[in-house]
Amino acid sequence: MMGDKAMFDKLKLKRQPKPETIRKILICQSNADLIQCRKHIHRIGGTVVKELPLVNGLVCELPDVLMYELESTSGVKRIEDDIKFHTSCLNYFFRRRSSPQQKPQEVGWGVRRIGAPEAWPISRGAQVAVAVIDTGVQLDHPDLQGRLGKGFNAISTGRSANDDNGHGTHVAGIIAAADNDIGVVGVAPEVIIHPVKVLDSTGAGSLSDVIEGLQWCIEQKVDLINMSLGARQDSETFREMIKLAAERGIIIVAAAGNSGPAMDSIDYPARYPETIAVAASDQQDAIADFSSRGREVDITAPGVEIPSTYLKGEYRSLSGTSMATPHITGTIALLKARKAELDLAEIKAILRRSAYRLPNFAPEYQGVGLVQAGVAVNKYSE
Ligand code: CA
Repeated sequence: MMGDKAMFDKLKLKRQPKPETIRKILICQSNADLIQCRKHIHRIGGTVVKELPLVNGLVCELPDVLMYELESTSGVKRIEDDIKFHTSCLNYFFRRRSSPQQKPQEVGWGVRRIGAPEAWPISRGAQVAVAVIDTGVQLDHPDLQGRLGKGFNAISTGRSANDDNGHGTHVAGIIAAADNDIGVVGVAPEVIIHPVKVLDSTGAGSLSDVIEGLQWCIEQKVDLINMSLGARQDSETFREMIKLAAERGIIIVAAAGNSGPAMDSIDYPARYPETIAVAASDQQDAIADFSSRGREVDITAPGVEIPSTYLKGEYRSLSGTSMATPHITGTIALLKARKAELDLAEIKAILRRSAYRLPNFAPEYQGVGLVQAGVAVNKYSE
């Protein structure tokens, strides 16, 4: 039997507020012993939740009050905050469900505007491996059947990359929706999509998960990465992982962000020179007001009211640089299927030569112009 005093102490202990746990990214010196670092973190009351061997890092959780102890870990190069990421989609543009699956298959206005159907007799992106770092993808969507490869879930390790938000499924459909008799068609309807889940059911996520997702893509040797997401803050470790992917020949396409019409409003990773930053245009070929502006913008693609696949096997029209980005990813997949060895500089050159320069918009708005997939594949992919 527990004495009154012991019971009282136990209750008191229970009532004490739990100290707040925070997550930090710890990057060690190249010669540091990661096993010793792990031991130290455990000793001070922290937990290692992820390993980032490619950048010699550990992701750990520990009570806020013990943060100062983390800095005493020997061999530490830097400690970074686990900054927040979000999708580059405009929620207020969400429209009521449409169900084009009841009708014959439709080619969305964006896919048509970039001339993707003109490329299809020559290339459909066959076998190009495209990672979609996002909220996951609905794995049993009827219009993505046969298009999905191995996936990864950085939020709940060991679980599938099934989508619980809808954003990632929408992005995947713009790239790769199957050419069948239902729904929509993607820009490159024969690519293989690798869903990488780093954003949760609300479309938000954290740097540590995004970095782990990137690491998985590098290990899997994917050809292309679509990042319809961003953060307003820079991170050394994020940049390092993006550089590493670029060095391994992976092409990274990223949403410019939805902070327009303010100038100099490009998100990370679109701001990095190792990525292709994508702005959004509408059906009148005008740059969308929401599309972020800045000298880092590389190219433009349709991003207003774009129809694509959505949760529960349905379809929806969404807006954002999130929707513009997969039009570019799909276009590059069409080129890569023709010539796998194309590097970032060569791809940028082809996109520049084939793009349609929008009159009335400065390069800070549109980059080299509106992508023309049909022209790029037909004229420049020999
Ligand atoms: Ca279809």
